[in-house]
Amino acid sequence: MDKIKKFPQIGTLIEDETLKEYPFYLRAYFCKNIVANMKALDENSCEKNILLKKIKSEIQKYLRKDLQSVINATGVIIHTNLGRSVIDESIFNQCKDQICNYINLEFDLENGKRGSRYALVLEKLKMLFECEDALVVNNNAAAVFLILNSLCLNEEIISSRGELVEIGGSFRVPEVIKAAGVKLKEVGTSNKTHLKDYEEAIDENTKLLLKTHKSNFTLIGFQSDVSIVELDKLAKEKGILTYYDLGSGWCENLNEKLAKNEPMIKKVLKNCDILSFSGDKLFGSVQAGIILGKRELIEKIKKNQLLRMLRVDKITLALLNETFKAYLEKDYTKITTLRLLNDDIEHIEQKALWVRQQIKFESEIKKSRSLVGGGSMPDRTLESRVLSFEGKALTLQEKFREKNIIGRVENDSFVLDFRTIRESDLNILVKLINSMENL
Ligand SMILES: *Cc1c(COP(=O)(O)O)cnc(C)c1O
Repeated sequence: MDKIKKFPQIGTLIEDETLKEYPFYLRAYFCKNIVANMKALDENSCEKNILLKKIKSEIQKYLRKDLQSVINATGVIIHTNLGRSVIDESIFNQCKDQICNYINLEFDLENGKRGSRYALVLEKLKMLFECEDALVVNNNAAAVFLILNSLCLNEEIISSRGELVEIGGSFRVPEVIKAAGVKLKEVGTSNKTHLKDYEEAIDENTKLLLKTHKSNFTLIGFQSDVSIVELDKLAKEKGILTYYDLGSGWCENLNEKLAKNEPMIKKVLKNCDILSFSGDKLFGSVQAGIILGKRELIEKIKKNQLLRMLRVDKITLALLNETFKAYLEKDYTKITTLRLLNDDIEHIEQKALWVRQQIKFESEIKKSRSLVGGGSMPDRTLESRVLSFEGKALTLQEKFREKNIIGRVENDSFVLDFRTIRESDLNILVKLINSMENL
């Protein structure tokens, strides 16, 4: 007998009562795929009920992978795997009208002519940072690439060996430089680089001095690097450029303890020709690469064909635009990342206490410390409060994860860190925890 005939008909599988709760496109896709896979494995037959069970399980697995909101109880504020900075609902609502309608993205309402999508945010960036000119691209990795490619193609730049870092997601500074078509001259050593290292390396081929923020690691002990102020002074003497890849960088209203030793964008700008930073790290907005600098340099970058490939879309620009407004209006509570970074310990404890009272399982409030994350400030932690649960930590972590609550394991206990749990998460968190049968 032909083995194909030993499988139930796809049509009857799709229409089976046990799958009716799922939309047609999912039933159709998984029924066809699973039967095809079994045939490819040279299976001769499969009973309908076994097949249906398999299909259902695959649909559920798929739905589990679908994008969905989670509760970040890891304590890591800028968590790259959890989407980095959270956009506040008020910011999103202000953009909604622009995103859901035609907008003047590249249209000058005054003269009816074609406008520039970058002009839209330029004025606000000037107000915020006192920059000569600015540009926004898809992310900071794109900014680094575009700046180097536009200003230094086939030319030589100098970087300290201590700053040839890997950021994560396979972004490695020396490789990005190479990919941008730029020659790299390394100076200094991995722990120490002096001004004279740069001084001696500069020759008639040198176009630019690159400084990269050591975002995600710290050197302690016998170490030193050269500040952007010193680098810029040297560059001016030699008639070459300086570029600072800030990675994160902060704008305003960061608490003193965190702000210490962390470059403030506006200040850095006074001491370099061009800089770039991520939109969704400490700045607390959407994924973007923000470039600020001298007018003639930005002009040159704007002429690069690559800009067209790295350009931001209207949703990004609309969200950024509202974040800029929030900063300008000093309405910092709208910037979730800042709000969480600056949150005081009494408030964090209050949130933890409230949840502890509302949930049906035993838990204990403990003192702990949270991380900034996002490749920012690896040496700095923030005071926090956690709810700690009795039981096998890894099992608990998995159980909570099934409910989209992402916690962490600390000293062999599973904990929920309340620095990253927002007010608006609390009710949902309680409901989710109480929906678990046991721990
Ligand atoms: C994070 C980071 C980048 C990459 O920025 P994305 O916005 O993630 O593309 C580049 N350089 C430094 C120093 C960084 O910290």
